[in-house]
Amino acid sequence: MLKYVDYDIVFDEVPDEVALAVSLSLCPNHCEGCHSPYLRQDIGEELTLERLASIIRCYRSGITCLCLMGGDGDTHSLEQLARSLRTAFPTLRLAWYSGRQQLPESMDVTIWDYVKLGPYIPKLGPLTSPTTNQRLYRILSDSTLDDLTPRFWRDKTSNGKIEATVPLKTLLNP
Ligand code: SF4
Repeated sequence: MLKYVDYDIVFDEVPDEVALAVSLSLCPNHCEGCHSPYLRQDIGEELTLERLASIIRCYRSGITCLCLMGGDGDTHSLEQLARSLRTAFPTLRLAWYSGRQQLPESMDVTIWDYVKLGPYIPKLGPLTSPTTNQRLYRILSDSTLDDLTPRFWRDKTSNGKIEATVPLKTLLNP
């Protein structure tokens, strides 16, 4: 089951996108220094396709992307939800923020336009920190992934360049 706690319009979670970010609870991860411990709890409302579609329709004219924040506890339902959203909103880009180190092997990652991977580690910092362990990838049609993480450091080190393309298989659990 997927549950959500809240949602917001955000401009800084996915480069060049205006995103409707939905925060999911039931997080199974145990990141040291978790920035949102309440998201580990069984709280919120069930995130059904009908409920999510209703929220999206309220903001559709102003957003370019849906960003699901969490869902690691039920990636099968998450993938099914994303697949249904592709049909219902074919021009809406889809992003998944996961706390996992690697993608679930069974997931067809091409259902997403963007995937963020990596647990939160306080000493390394979030995506905006050049020392971060986390990565945000853009999923390409040939099953390679562009590492967009340096875009978050635009004002610090990289001048916003995309620095790496990696094969999908390197990010799958063995
Ligand atoms: S992925 Fe990590 S930081 Fe995010 S809610 Fe879960 S435990 Fe907390």
